[in-house]
Amino acid sequence: MGAQIITGLTMPELPEVETVKRGLEPVLRGARIIRVELRREGLRFPFPKGFAQGLSGARVTGLTRRAKYIFVGLDTGFSLLVHLGMTGRFTTLSKAGVQSLGEFYFETGATEAADGPHDHVVLHLEDGTRLVYSDPRRFGMMDLVETSGLDQHKLLRDLGVEPLGNGLSAGYLAAKFKGKAAPLKAALLDQRIIAGLGNIYVCEVLYRAKLSPKRKAGSVKADKLEEMVRHIRDILNEAILAGGSTLQDFQHTDGGQGSYQQRFAVYDREGEACACGGTIKRIVQSGRSSFYCPKCQK
Ligand SMILES: [Zn+2]
Repeated sequence: MGAQIITGLTMPELPEVETVKRGLEPVLRGARIIRVELRREGLRFPFPKGFAQGLSGARVTGLTRRAKYIFVGLDTGFSLLVHLGMTGRFTTLSKAGVQSLGEFYFETGATEAADGPHDHVVLHLEDGTRLVYSDPRRFGMMDLVETSGLDQHKLLRDLGVEPLGNGLSAGYLAAKFKGKAAPLKAALLDQRIIAGLGNIYVCEVLYRAKLSPKRKAGSVKADKLEEMVRHIRDILNEAILAGGSTLQDFQHTDGGQGSYQQRFAVYDREGEACACGGTIKRIVQSGRSSFYCPKCQK
């Protein structure tokens, strides 16, 4: 019995969700779900009516990500919609043992993970693999939605552009930020403008762009917006390559730590020295911590 955990531990942000999606791909793509065990009525929301029946017998056609949601496409015309909430994770248990270990797999050897008190959903696949969804805090969600209507799902229809997609550009941000007196930090976290960009990465983007989280969103000049877009893509891609930021409790299969967290320039570094000679400060903006260097971020 091999066990693999495919997840981060705390508050997955977009890179962690992308990491989980990539980890699930070799397990799920082309696989047939033969049975679904639901060990409770729901997670953050109740499971929809006919959820287990709708998944049983379906074959997975592919996986995609939108913001922090994972879509598992099925040959039934429906998609399984998954959000990991704060503590959601997937573990695979396969009879064949640990297979095709890749960058995004984390071997634990903890087979009891399949029967823990927080294991809420188990997908039994045709080849004997069990895919277990665990979620201690149960802020995650699952839904079964007609694939053709995904864009109109109530949780998805108001989402802004993908930070790694073609929709994000300096021109797009200029239009959205025009006349906005809201702090830049809040505007970047607004999911209706950019979907899936979270607190940690916004702090890092603003640091790299040398922009204060407090300045008015509407005051950022075109060349700085251009720079910011580049940093958003770079930072998210770097984090995805590192396997996400919140995987520090797991070791990569090569024994390395593989954590983007070790590379944070400002996030969670209050009181530490900035390369410019300034000191990193923490302030609270709309209930979230902002970490920045008041000396070099203007
Ligand atoms: Zn500085």
